[in-house]
Amino acid sequence: MRFSKLFAPTTKDAPKDATLPSHIFLVRGGFINQTGSGLYNFMPLGKIVLEKIRQIVKDEMDKAGAQEISMNFVTSAELWQQSGRYEVFGKELLRFRDRKDNEFVLSPTNEEVVVDIVRNRVNSYKQLPLHLYQITTKFRDEARPRFGLLRGREFVMKDGYSFHANSDDLKREFDLMEQTYSRIFTRLGLNFRAVAADSGAIGGSGSKEFMVLAQNGEDDILICDKCQYAANVEAAKRAKKTSDKEPPKADFAKFHTPISADSSIEQLSGFFKIDPFYTVKAVIKKAIYKNKSEIVVFFVRGSDSLQEVKAINAAAALELCDASAEEISKAGLVAGFCGPVGLENVKFFIDNELKEEKNLICGANEPSYHHVGVSMFNFKPERYADLVSVEAGDLCPHCGGRLSLTKGIEVGHIFQLGQKYSSAMNATFLDQNGKTQPFFMGCYGIGVSRLVAVMIEASHDEKGCIWNKQSAPYTLDIIISNVKNEAQNAFALKLYQELKSERKEVLLDDRNERFGFKMNDFELIGFPYALIIGKEFDEGKVELVERATLKKELIEIEKLHARLNEVF
Ligand code: ATP
Ligand code: MG
Repeated sequence: MRFSKLFAPTTKDAPKDATLPSHIFLVRGGFINQTGSGLYNFMPLGKIVLEKIRQIVKDEMDKAGAQEISMNFVTSAELWQQSGRYEVFGKELLRFRDRKDNEFVLSPTNEEVVVDIVRNRVNSYKQLPLHLYQITTKFRDEARPRFGLLRGREFVMKDGYSFHANSDDLKREFDLMEQTYSRIFTRLGLNFRAVAADSGAIGGSGSKEFMVLAQNGEDDILICDKCQYAANVEAAKRAKKTSDKEPPKADFAKFHTPISADSSIEQLSGFFKIDPFYTVKAVIKKAIYKNKSEIVVFFVRGSDSLQEVKAINAAAALELCDASAEEISKAGLVAGFCGPVGLENVKFFIDNELKEEKNLICGANEPSYHHVGVSMFNFKPERYADLVSVEAGDLCPHCGGRLSLTKGIEVGHIFQLGQKYSSAMNATFLDQNGKTQPFFMGCYGIGVSRLVAVMIEASHDEKGCIWNKQSAPYTLDIIISNVKNEAQNAFALKLYQELKSERKEVLLDDRNERFGFKMNDFELIGFPYALIIGKEFDEGKVELVERATLKKELIEIEKLHARLNEVF
């Protein structure tokens, strides 16, 4: 490609709302442009990068035996009603009607459609396993679209769906996808981890996220310093926490505590002169369900905090919001003095780590009273759930190593769905014993357009993008320092044509612009290398610049070919 013909409208100005390097440099470098909130066009350079990433994803998916298809972007609401997700998906799902008043959605993910494709077409275990995937546009009406391509509303995702005759085969495919994803992100040169994850609205059991470690990530992940354990905070586990502080000793009793209802845990433990570890705190929330809402109480140690996603899962709610003082008292709860003992007519959950504990201090459900010497063993098993937010410094659940907190950007998510969608949508096959069974399913997503931005979050400097060879729009930018110099021009053109005929990814900057202007574009766009045909050309030398280090190297023209072979 000749730069003089390339549509790459670079600018000095960053978008007003842009804070992240990938957002700033992709817009300034003329890769993408914004047309609305969370809506971006891909211009030629952006499109080349997107296609390169898509190609790597496709190559590895095909090698793993998956088959590419293309499903509708517009999907009938009827299918979403069959799975039961039409009501529960929330506002991210864009619903609309056509001229005949039929209801539709813009696909945010495609479990329903793929189940509809497979049911009644695959009837026997002999036709399994089957893995279908696509790399297409998705739409999610995100509450806060931001950070450019990292969180758009319209974006490109690879979504794959596998069908199996039993859960062992599903597990095998899940492991194969973990390896496939690892290969994809390794080929892209990314520093990533597969982490234990919450399954969110997609559902099912057993899921892993692929996180690229990056300062600007939106996700908090905990990583063990000794073993491979890594988890999203939303799903992180820890070795049961203990305390070397003296536990309070008292028989079970009600105790007058003349402290105000909005006292902190520190004030309460100060009053009893004990460590907050031995107190129990009540977090009162309003849980939102499909057709109702309800007050729910979560009990965790005073020294712990409630992890919201774990709490949502325990309560099987769609979401949790803060409860008003009025709603709390209407539910019969005494704010500031709420405890599990004798709590009736209210749904409540107790953190798993409290299950076998005794000598605790909790609210007595009466103003200005607490219970002391409380044992936690006598509640129904369904009251206990994993509720705590695991923090940096907590111990690894596998090896006892220390967990530390880092930031990650989610680039992929793989799920073992099991029979959730196939049973809801009545998609069955005949198993080896001639018995009808719903398919066992897995689903596997990769944020393909998000990856374009992730490449730059992972690799940039204050001047602009630094692409690696796997994702760069062109590997080499041949810059003619002065296009009016005929010898420079002729040499550059001949080299460019040779390299092109060898199918090398090369750009020729033949624009009639100042040298400094062209160098700025090179640094902003971030091709891995520039070859400058400039002032040393008369002495038989050209200059190679490596974008990552900005190191310059003078090369004698006779040795150029060999050196360029290394570059490519
Ligand atoms: P997130 O927690 O970041 O919203 P998610 O859990 O909703 O992601 P999935 O439903 O697992 O995402 O979608 C699969 C992949 O699609 C994600 O791993 C991510 O890389 C990408 N993705 C999801 N939402 C967006 C978005 N709004 N913009 C760009 N990519 C996205
Ligand atoms: Mg999301």
